Amino acid sequence: MQSIENYNFSGKRAIIRVDFNVPLDADFKVTDATRIRAAIPTIKKVLEKGGSAILMSHLGRPKGVTDKFSLKHIIYKIEELLGVKIIFAEDCQNAAAQAAALKPGEVLLLENLRFYAEEDGKPRGLAEDATAEDKAAAKKVIKESQKTFVKTLASYADCYINDAFGTAHRAHSSTALIAEYFANDKMFGYIMENELKAIDAVLLDAKKPFTAILGGSKVSTKITIIESLMERADNLVLGGGMTFTFVAAMGGKIGNSLCEKDQYEMALDILAKAKAKGVNIYLPFDTLSGESFSNDCATLITPSDEIPDGWLGLDIGPKAIEDFSKVIENSSTILWNGPVGVFEMDTFAAGSRAIAESIVKATENGAFSLIGGGDSVACINKLGLADKVSYVSTGGGALLEYMEGKVLPGVAAIKA
Ligand code: AMP
Repeated sequence: MQSIENYNFSGKRAIIRVDFNVPLDADFKVTDATRIRAAIPTIKKVLEKGGSAILMSHLGRPKGVTDKFSLKHIIYKIEELLGVKIIFAEDCQNAAAQAAALKPGEVLLLENLRFYAEEDGKPRGLAEDATAEDKAAAKKVIKESQKTFVKTLASYADCYINDAFGTAHRAHSSTALIAEYFANDKMFGYIMENELKAIDAVLLDAKKPFTAILGGSKVSTKITIIESLMERADNLVLGGGMTFTFVAAMGGKIGNSLCEKDQYEMALDILAKAKAKGVNIYLPFDTLSGESFSNDCATLITPSDEIPDGWLGLDIGPKAIEDFSKVIENSSTILWNGPVGVFEMDTFAAGSRAIAESIVKATENGAFSLIGGGDSVACINKLGLADKVSYVSTGGGALLEYMEGKVLPGVAAIKA
């Protein structure tokens, strides 16, 4: 397999799939440039080694050409962070002349790939009452035109770099299909390399004790990952809205807390499996409840299975914080996915803050810690502790699928 470190980029054009799907405000200013900043080392490496770069990305979920989702809005930010003038191709499918004219050190940015349905290969504009045959026919048409789309993108460059971990779980044109045109000239960028290294350190090479902390709202979305982690972790610390399904399934009183009644059996099954495997499951002993779902409501601390009617459990309680912190601080490998409370409201952020602080402490004592999955990343960023843990993953869905043991098309296409 080629690597960005060893590849000879001199005089070559590299087409790089980046993840520039960044949030914009009403004036089209970038409000969080983390993803652009993260892609800079890969782009710089290509340029420093005498190559030119063709950047391609999606932005939002446009259903066709939409000014609001144009990548032209973020050019100023890329230029600011990269320190190189950006040449812009207003149509990603008509950029051959601009690509051919690129000189070493130059950077061409292609317009939003998702202006074309061919990027994800899913038919658009089907009537609501379309029959199964109509759908199959439309799919066939788009799959055919997708081949041309991919071929056109590939024709711009001499080599392909995938540095978009956030979309690695999608088998899209730019994230996977294009790789087949670059049998010996395809590689991961630094983000991809680092993500895979960090996740593999946790999944394949975890020093024990390995503790996984899982939070978030619903247990139904975390079942596969809980089951997959049960094969590897010594301790599973559960927090957040999903714990109330466990507590209720065991007969506890959870008031009006989040609960998925159809998951009771699943919850009990998870507890039984963990016991059989010798995996310690930690549920919060106590809970901080609110009288309503708001920051300035009345609050109450009770055991997690004694929440009065009408109250909602919105954060773990002080005894749970103490218990969880002890487990975390005695761990050598830590994975955190999902806040243990409604951290967006300060009143219910103490639990997640304590978890983050314990992870930082463990990391300072030599543990490897990986934080991943949308909301836990937002949480660690909000607390300003992101640079005090071993690795913060940029890929929400991709990270979860990889940890669930699924093959990511974007990864497989490079390794093939
Ligand atoms: P998820 O996307 O499933 O990881 O869920 C993340 C969301 O779960 C965050 O927005 C939290 O506010 C929310 N959350 C965490 N704990 C609770 C809770 N006890 N009740 C309701 N929502 C919660």
